[in-house]
Amino acid sequence: MSAKHEPNILASTQQLVKEAARRLGFSEAMAELLEEPMRVLKVRLPVKMDDGSVAIFTGYRAQHNDAVGPTKGGVRFHPDVTEEEVKALSIWMSLKCGIVDLPYGGGKGGIVCDPRRMSSGELERLSRGYVRAISQIVGPTKDIPAPDVMTNSQIMAWMMDEYSRIREFDAPGFITGKPLVLGGSRGRETATAQGVVLMIREAVRCLDMPLEGAKVIVQGFGNAGSYLAKFMNEAGALVVGISDEHGALYDPQGLNVGELLDRRDSFGSVTRLFPNTITNAELLEKPCDILVPAAVAGQITERNAANIRAKAVVEAANGPTTMEATRILADRGVLIVPDVLASAGGVVVSYFEWVQNNQGYYWDEDEVSRKLEQKMKASFERVYGISRQRNVDMRTAAYMAGVRRLAEAIKYRGWI
Ligand code: GLU
Repeated sequence: MSAKHEPNILASTQQLVKEAARRLGFSEAMAELLEEPMRVLKVRLPVKMDDGSVAIFTGYRAQHNDAVGPTKGGVRFHPDVTEEEVKALSIWMSLKCGIVDLPYGGGKGGIVCDPRRMSSGELERLSRGYVRAISQIVGPTKDIPAPDVMTNSQIMAWMMDEYSRIREFDAPGFITGKPLVLGGSRGRETATAQGVVLMIREAVRCLDMPLEGAKVIVQGFGNAGSYLAKFMNEAGALVVGISDEHGALYDPQGLNVGELLDRRDSFGSVTRLFPNTITNAELLEKPCDILVPAAVAGQITERNAANIRAKAVVEAANGPTTMEATRILADRGVLIVPDVLASAGGVVVSYFEWVQNNQGYYWDEDEVSRKLEQKMKASFERVYGISRQRNVDMRTAAYMAGVRRLAEAIKYRGWI
């Protein structure tokens, strides 16, 4: 599943961006500029496969806007990647960077492929081929890739090596999410989940309830979802539901998170090993205090929003809730911490990684956690404040925070 199953993902993002620009009093030209990436590159990638054949893959890199600084965002490997999806995701990255106040615009890349069916050698050749194909438009001060759906630190290492070979100097700042030994940052792997934990802490504070004993459902058991379940469990919350792409597990008394983590495979599959699974759709409607969609887009729609029983929805995935569903949830008083805010922990620590690469001096884990906490809390306060002041839902408020920063940079540069 991916954003492909949410047909209007680009259109709804564009509508929200334009609405935010208008609410803030920016011109129509500004709204028009921000609704599309400034550059989208489509590449064809021939890759020698292990069986001697050659497979041709398609890849994309979208750069939404570089008025604030170089563009920044992950590269996903998934069979459902489309140009539309990559474009929408690049806009989201601009918003995320604006909301958490990073000196970046948004970018995003994707390759249409299924890494679960490829060998390590095939993945390496594909990753290197992609970097060769996009090398003209990326770089440490131009556009900085990172991991995303089904890409990891090994893939970042191959990409960094390929880029460094092309440029003939070592360029750790070309990409983030690298292994520690190649200039990765402490805390990067768990950063998205840590950021979500911080947002859940803010959400329960607003709801005036303790985190201890709070019932949490986490949809998705990939990098973000699995670490999140672990951290929630450690913080004393009760993880009552988890899922992967095959199904879901729910137990109102709390699941054995340690066992689930031990038995998951590297792509986050685990439910198949257990009896009594339910579907992902059923899981979303189960009773809980906090629902965390940490899987793919288009999960909460006008069809199921009225049945969601959580008090807060904290979006760790990109685009899990449609616009109609946002309205239904907001009208019912469900607190939404939107994706562009809740999932920003990853890019925040990517920024720290890039800063460390640029200065050649590396921080300890405490420093990373402390700085992440400062940024995430301040960003939540800002978005919550806008939502209160302007009487808009949290998603609209987050879009306004993101668009404002971008539009101001564009105006100062004199583009509009
Ligand atoms: N792929 C992650 C995101 O969607 C991280 C991007 C980055 O670190 O640049 O936020």
